[in-house]
Amino acid sequence: MHNIDIEVVEMTLDVMKYAINRMTHTSPELGKPKSEKELRELVGETITADGIGGENAFGLFKDVLVKATVPIDHPRHLAFVPAAPTRAAIMFDLVTSASSIHGAYWMEGAGGIFCENEAMKWLVSLTGLPKGAFGVFTSGGTAANLSAMVTARENWRKNPENRNVKALVITSEGAHSSIKAMAKVIDADVLLVETEDLMTADMLKEKIAGLDPDQRKRLFSVVATGGTTNAGIIDDLEGVAEVCAKENLWFHVDAAYGGGALAADSVRHLFRGIEKADSITIDPHKWLFSPYDCGAVIYKNPELAKEAHAQEGSYLEIFKDEGARGFNPADYQIQLTRRVRGLPLWFSLAMHGTDKYRWAVEEGMKLANLAGELITDHNELELVREPSLSCVLFRRKGWSPEDYRTWTYKNHKEGFALVTPTTWKINGIPETVARFCFINPDTTIEDIVAILQSME
Ligand SMILES: *Cc1c(COP(=O)(O)O)cnc(C)c1O
Repeated sequence: MHNIDIEVVEMTLDVMKYAINRMTHTSPELGKPKSEKELRELVGETITADGIGGENAFGLFKDVLVKATVPIDHPRHLAFVPAAPTRAAIMFDLVTSASSIHGAYWMEGAGGIFCENEAMKWLVSLTGLPKGAFGVFTSGGTAANLSAMVTARENWRKNPENRNVKALVITSEGAHSSIKAMAKVIDADVLLVETEDLMTADMLKEKIAGLDPDQRKRLFSVVATGGTTNAGIIDDLEGVAEVCAKENLWFHVDAAYGGGALAADSVRHLFRGIEKADSITIDPHKWLFSPYDCGAVIYKNPELAKEAHAQEGSYLEIFKDEGARGFNPADYQIQLTRRVRGLPLWFSLAMHGTDKYRWAVEEGMKLANLAGELITDHNELELVREPSLSCVLFRRKGWSPEDYRTWTYKNHKEGFALVTPTTWKINGIPETVARFCFINPDTTIEDIVAILQSME
């Protein structure tokens, strides 16, 4: 497969040309899904005994298949948590692939892991965690949360009394779905503090006080959120940290979305207390402008993660030899073979400098505040709550859930924008509302005005 023939050279040029074109197109066509049947009819069979040829396959991808995807970096893609990888990071994602680096162990990946660790040092510095804290890049926030929860649970189980006890974790209603999903993976029960708004120390204390003795024995961790996915709300991390310290519970902060805002001076104070966490999740592929996929898990005491995650195997012994000493990312999270997925972030940070990142994150929040003002000034619109981080929840007066859905689909179908509704509880009753989440500094005020106009 390594013979460089003419076809490969031509293919390489085609691929590079496509990549450069796509990277320089800051407002690509907003694709939309087609059914599998429609796609099959358009492209036919692509996996055949003889192959259909690179040019042909690439043509189908460019002309049909990629158009059935939504470019997450489109400036009017404000649904879910969008993303806007820097061009430097995208270019280096190509380089990461081309370099074929095994990112599990220092012995094979030293130079690449060194780069990842330089980027990680910056991330760790944003958290304010004490000396010795460190982390590793994962496939995303879900994997980071799982890695942290396994570490917490294993640490708790060191106490023989907890060996055969089913674990229990407390989080809030505002927490991301992956917390519940990963609790299933580690077979732990989840109790929710009933608030979508910020979880305070008092709410947490009340929840703990309400546990029966069996539940209290099983409780090993509290997961707070540093920027809820739905509304950008940051729990009272300082207060939760205090309760966790007093109750001897592992304090995890899920800042998969909000973590990027640790770089922003205007909101850094909202995260006070995060420096007391035992573990933190931050997704560079959300608000730190990295391509998919790139999450990160950071531990106050990485040794505990190593005790929980380091894999044993005769074929792995060589990696642990004296001569190969160095940081082994495989030891600190759930994955063994891994891409050095922090490399694009490293290159982009090295190229642009950290100030550029601060600027870009502040831009997202400026857009959210600007949208808030436009909504407040609009007769038919109103804010559901003040913008928080880069999330804006607002309603179109008089609209039913059906109206929001129709509006979303119409804008998407026309290739104009992808903005999706969500629900927010008002006095305990879920209401369907509109939601913006801003990440991309290329989004303009004109984009926001046009989207708001589409609700008139
Ligand atoms: C997005 C998100 C996750 C999940 O991260 P993935 O990278 O999608 O796995 C977890 N927690 C929060 C708060 C998130 O916003």
